[in-house]
Amino acid sequence: MTDEAKRWKVPKGHVYVLDDICKGCGFCIEYCPRKVLARAEQFNAKGYHPPEVVDPDACAMCGFCELVCPDFAIWTEKEEMVKEETKDAA
Ligand code: SF4
Ligand code: SF4
Repeated sequence: MTDEAKRWKVPKGHVYVLDDICKGCGFCIEYCPRKVLARAEQFNAKGYHPPEVVDPDACAMCGFCELVCPDFAIWTEKEEMVKEETKDAA
């Protein structure tokens, strides 16, 4: 699933979004304490605007966006976890 997701590099890891799972509720955008996310201009397959990362440097990797998403369309991975995965794949 991660392969299909959009990925943005942030200071402590990555933020992932699965556009076509998103139902455009805007919770992740609204509740992000650092205003990292915004509604993307393009529509997804369901006709909603998914979130996109507009200020990656501001991301505190708090995981709030992941917590409030009702559809598991957005999530974060800390740098260590990303490195672990790469190691496992090698
Ligand atoms: S992890 Fe926290 S700071 Fe980063 S995008 Fe999600 S809610 Fe915003
Ligand atoms: S919280 Fe989830 S479903 Fe709602 S806009 Fe964000 S990614 Fe989409």
